[in-house]
Amino acid sequence: MRLSRFHLHTTKETPADAELVSHRLMLRAGMIRKLASGLYTWSPLGLRVLRKVEAVVREEMDRAGAVELQLPTIQPKELWEETGRWEKFGGQLLKIKDRKEQEYCYSPTAEEAITDFARQELSSYKQLPVNFYQIQTKFRDEIRPRFGVMRAREFLMKDAYSFHLDDASLVAEYENMKAAYTRIFTRLGLEFRAVQADSGAIGGDASQEFHVIADSGEDALVFSTGSDYAANVEAAIAADPAPRAAASEQLRKIDTPTQKTCEEVAALIDIALQRTVKSVALIAGEGQFVLALVRGDHEVNEIKLAKVEGLADYRMASEAEIAEYLGSEPGFLGPLNPRKALRVIADREVAAMADFVVGANETGFHIAGVNWGRDLAEPEVADIRNVVAGDRARDGGELKIARGIEVGHVFQLGRKYAQALKATVLDVNGKATVMAMGCYGIGVSRIVAAAIEQNHDEAGIIWPAAMAPWQAVVCMINPKQDPAVVAAAEALLAELQAAGVDAALDDRGLRPGAMFADMELIGIPHRIVVSERGLAAGTYEYRARSASEAENLDKTALLAKIA
Ligand code: ATP
Ligand code: MG
Ligand code: MG
Ligand code: MG
Repeated sequence: MRLSRFHLHTTKETPADAELVSHRLMLRAGMIRKLASGLYTWSPLGLRVLRKVEAVVREEMDRAGAVELQLPTIQPKELWEETGRWEKFGGQLLKIKDRKEQEYCYSPTAEEAITDFARQELSSYKQLPVNFYQIQTKFRDEIRPRFGVMRAREFLMKDAYSFHLDDASLVAEYENMKAAYTRIFTRLGLEFRAVQADSGAIGGDASQEFHVIADSGEDALVFSTGSDYAANVEAAIAADPAPRAAASEQLRKIDTPTQKTCEEVAALIDIALQRTVKSVALIAGEGQFVLALVRGDHEVNEIKLAKVEGLADYRMASEAEIAEYLGSEPGFLGPLNPRKALRVIADREVAAMADFVVGANETGFHIAGVNWGRDLAEPEVADIRNVVAGDRARDGGELKIARGIEVGHVFQLGRKYAQALKATVLDVNGKATVMAMGCYGIGVSRIVAAAIEQNHDEAGIIWPAAMAPWQAVVCMINPKQDPAVVAAAEALLAELQAAGVDAALDDRGLRPGAMFADMELIGIPHRIVVSERGLAAGTYEYRARSASEAENLDKTALLAKIA
């Protein structure tokens, strides 16, 4: 690849609206460009990285015995009605009409479509177990798309679905997928943890998330040093009713004029928890309360809004109603500023449990979802320790809290979807049996951003080897004046490529400073400079992206560094 023929378009300016370092660097490196909210173009450079991630995912899925297929992204309403998710999925589901007024959705996940395929294709236990996967665009109308491709509306997901005659087979495949995920994230050079996840509305069955560890992550994770216990906070809370009781107790103690309603507030929190709500915002004032519930389980992911008048009349309200009430855009918090809520908490020493912050002021109570809040990282850590520490330290270990970016999720679905869609096979005795299912997702496009969160410095991205757009770039000094430099650089490029190195030639004729800055910004692992001076000395200037100094090496030593 010659960079003069490639579209490399870097910028020096730091984009003002990009909060996360990965978002800023992806924009500065020219990897992505925004088309509209949550919709991004992957430039040729960005796409090279995305494809590298995809390749590792595909290789390991194939190695694990999964088989690739491709489902349509546009799916008919009738199919989604069979499972009830046309309504239940909520606002994240993008609904579309065609010219005949037929309704469709853009797939946010594909349990329905794959189960429809399975009920047509699978008829005998002899065809089981089988694990189908695709690497396909998804659309979720996220309430707050942000951080670039980290939480986009259109994004690339690897989603896999396995089918089984019995639970033992499902459990075996679930373990197989966990092992495959471990290989994938290890090969991608990421620091990650697998944690227990709350299995949510589906109930009972196992679910684990894979998180890339990063301070900017939206999720809070709880680990113990005394055992291999690791969970996201929802799972930690769900596994133990004690924190809930403790929080309710704390809430009752709050001494404010609205004391009388405290128990009812506590009861509402309990309702929220039973519904596996991920985040709750309760905004109170002048006898009126607004409760926003955001479900966080794998299958629902919707925002449910409840309006509570004087806490007596509990009913679901539309987003528009809430927006009207709050006089603002619908969202978790409406006008409640998380920093302000925290200040309230600090002032009043009220309890916070896991992903809830409970606060109070003159006008009433505030419960702010903190699971999403980078702003809240510090106080939240303290709060979680208060709530879960005592319980988890029973294994003798120290409780650690970290923040994570969810990059993968494995799930034992059981028979829920197969039952709804009547996906059966004949068992050994010729009896029709509903199949058990597992589902396994990886956020392929999110991984690109997550990797940058973990691997960068002031100069730019430091790609893990498996993800770099090119492993090595050969930079030419003064190519226009110096044909010998051009010839030597081209020969070296050919040699690297022959040795199997994914290499490119920077023949753009830029000044060295600008050329090197670009290579650092876009995170090339190995930079080689071919110059007149080097050629005279029989050496190449080599610098690893992660090294602070360049060194002059002869060709043998150079190739040994790279190949
Ligand atoms: P999150 O909790 O971040 O909203 P999720 O639990 O809703 O994610 P899953 O339904 O488990 O997501 O989907 C599988 C994977 O798809 C996730 O683990 C994540 O890596 C990725 N993913 C989900 N939503 C997005 C998004 N809006 N943008 C980019 N990747 C996403
Ligand atoms: Mg999640
Ligand atoms: Mg998930
Ligand atoms: Mg989600």
